Amino acid sequence: MTTLDENTKAELIREIATALAKKQRLAFASDFHAFAEGRTLILAGVPFENFPKGPNTKRSDGDVVAHAIVMALAGATNTGDIDDWFPEKGETGVRSMEYLPEMRHRLIEAKQLVIGTIDVTILCGEQPRMKKRTSEMQRNIAEGLRISLDQVHVKVSSMDGQDEIARLEGIEARVLVSLWEGL
Ligand SMILES: [Zn+2]
Repeated sequence: MTTLDENTKAELIREIATALAKKQRLAFASDFHAFAEGRTLILAGVPFENFPKGPNTKRSDGDVVAHAIVMALAGATNTGDIDDWFPEKGETGVRSMEYLPEMRHRLIEAKQLVIGTIDVTILCGEQPRMKKRTSEMQRNIAEGLRISLDQVHVKVSSMDGQDEIARLEGIEARVLVSLWEGL
């Protein structure tokens, strides 16, 4: 076995790192819905039945986590937006978490991509209630995309100072995804 001198080794490492960096795709997305009375709040497929309000939207069940994940995956692959993937039909009964396996089939598997991490931040004034159920949310996301639990992180922030959120007038999810192609 030949040993490489330090310069050749450093050059090789730089070349491999550059090649890998070009294969990585990162995207950030955010989805916000104002609250309305009489709708159920659902986050990453987890229903909060005792919560007094839910998202005021005609799109599906208004799951901001699922919507932001779809937007981030579409953004990372430059394949349009949520409306291109799932045209809005005004059906409030649609479960948005069903978008995830569909994106896995039609995007991740079709383009032979590998998901690195999915990092979710939920912004809501009712932080304690949500915090208790982040592990359920993580499990739903991991199952939907068929990735392992340690690739998904969900956290909740009350975002002190952001008045709309603190007064419970709406809810937002922010998502960062990393993908790799051709590995
Ligand atoms: Zn939405």
